[in-house]
Amino acid sequence: MNEAYDYDLIALGAGSGGLSIIERAASYGQRCAVVERGRIGGTCVNVGCVPKKIMWFGANLAHMINDAKSYGYDLSNNGFDWSSLVARREKYIDGINSWYHGYLKDLGIDELEGEASFVDAHTIAVAGKHYSARHIAIATGTRPRLPAIPGIELAITSDGFFELKQQPMRVAIAGSGYIAVELAGVLNALGSEVSLYLRKHHVLGEFDSLLGSTLFEEIAKSGIKVRTEAEITAIECNAEGLLTLQDNHGVMLEGLDQVIYAIGRDPELGGLGLDKAGVEVNARGYIETDVYQNTSQAHIFALGDVTGRAPLTPVAIAAGRRLADRLYDGQDDRHLNYELIPSVVFSHPPIGTVGMTEQAARAEYGDRVRIYQTRFTAMYNAISDHDVPTAMKLVCLDEEEKVIGCHLIGPGVDEMLQGFAVAIRMGACKKDFDDTVAIHPTSSEELVTMR
Ligand SMILES: Cc1cc2nc3c(=O)[nH]c(=O)nc-3n(C[C@H](O)[C@H](O)[C@H](O)COP(=O)(O)OP(=O)(O)OC[C@H]3O[C@@H](n4cnc5c(N)ncnc54)[C@H](O)[C@@H]3O)c2cc1C
Repeated sequence: MNEAYDYDLIALGAGSGGLSIIERAASYGQRCAVVERGRIGGTCVNVGCVPKKIMWFGANLAHMINDAKSYGYDLSNNGFDWSSLVARREKYIDGINSWYHGYLKDLGIDELEGEASFVDAHTIAVAGKHYSARHIAIATGTRPRLPAIPGIELAITSDGFFELKQQPMRVAIAGSGYIAVELAGVLNALGSEVSLYLRKHHVLGEFDSLLGSTLFEEIAKSGIKVRTEAEITAIECNAEGLLTLQDNHGVMLEGLDQVIYAIGRDPELGGLGLDKAGVEVNARGYIETDVYQNTSQAHIFALGDVTGRAPLTPVAIAAGRRLADRLYDGQDDRHLNYELIPSVVFSHPPIGTVGMTEQAARAEYGDRVRIYQTRFTAMYNAISDHDVPTAMKLVCLDEEEKVIGCHLIGPGVDEMLQGFAVAIRMGACKKDFDDTVAIHPTSSEELVTMR
């Protein structure tokens, strides 16, 4: 403990990043505090991964109840009670929140409740009080983006989606990224009528084209109304509280319960007063950091979504833990390697992806790239009337066929990818895949039998 300061480390934001660095720093005997203005756990726990995955499980059950008939069951789906699922979901999240409060207390970490802002480079203000620290870690995350159109105050974002106490039966969703397709898939499976507004002609534009195109087909087949090259230009509310929107083609959509925006997120830096601390942001507005999470101010660090790199919970956690190892455990070169980060989209069907897309690999390596690809119907779906495709792609490099990308869509791939990500991180080549004995009968065996 450096007596010149109140704390060794203050983390700003008790989300995935802030909590991970603070608990690792405390385990090294540092005197720590974390500031949070909302619910402990941040986006992931309260309005992100956790509630989203619970809704996805609920939506999957709707598909399975339909499939059950093909497996000989005489089942009927007598309705879905949104409020009951939401109540259970929130109870589960309350449990996580309480667990965290207890955990921080046990570790001797102080929780400072309120909005943090810098007073100077070593001092922050929270709820009218000043706290100083030798090190400060900024992990304030991002917030959902909204466009400036008439009536935008009538729309909600993913944050608002998780506040809905009743199921919206007619919904428009704007966006083509993973959050938009996940929410569209959940609502559609649970019986809502969904219109998806895409600015272009595709979904998941940054993913391998196999994934985006396969999911696009499935979304259209699932009953979601896809409006391409369509942007909402205005939203109005009628006397009954129903919404009408107009798009750039002049087409109106009436009788909507909700309009949901999932068009991207921006760094949450408002009110922090970074200028008082000498912390710079980059051209995209995110805090500029190197791979060691250093900012432009020597003793101030930033991690997680606010840095604009790979905005995923495990990335924020890994960066936080490694930074604490470096600062307080003498592991001088400890840092996160931002390459080969696997991720999953909880769409219907789900997607798993790691490494370079075919587009990126061809742009960088040209003819040195070799692609292995397959598409099939998994056994589970072949028996049911619900024809869902599974598609897989391996992106390989040079004669040795080092696997530099693996892109999967289909039932079960969300749980399939993690192990393959380990192999790819270790430098596996196609031959290593081929030499691995398949597990039969599974979908994953296709990944080690591709020709
Ligand atoms: C709908 C949705 C679904 C997602 N699904 C997944 C998923 O399936 N898998 C996955 O890996 N990732 C997912 N993510 C992303 C994941 O939630 C984020 O990558 C992760 O939460 C980032 O952690 P963080 O610590 O950087 O920020 P956050 O978790 O956002 O935490 C930042 C915290 O800082 C607080 N804060 C901000 N400003 C201040 C201030 N001035 N003073 C005090 N407190 C402040 C905020 O209240 C917040 O609690 C999802 C995100 C969303 C929105």
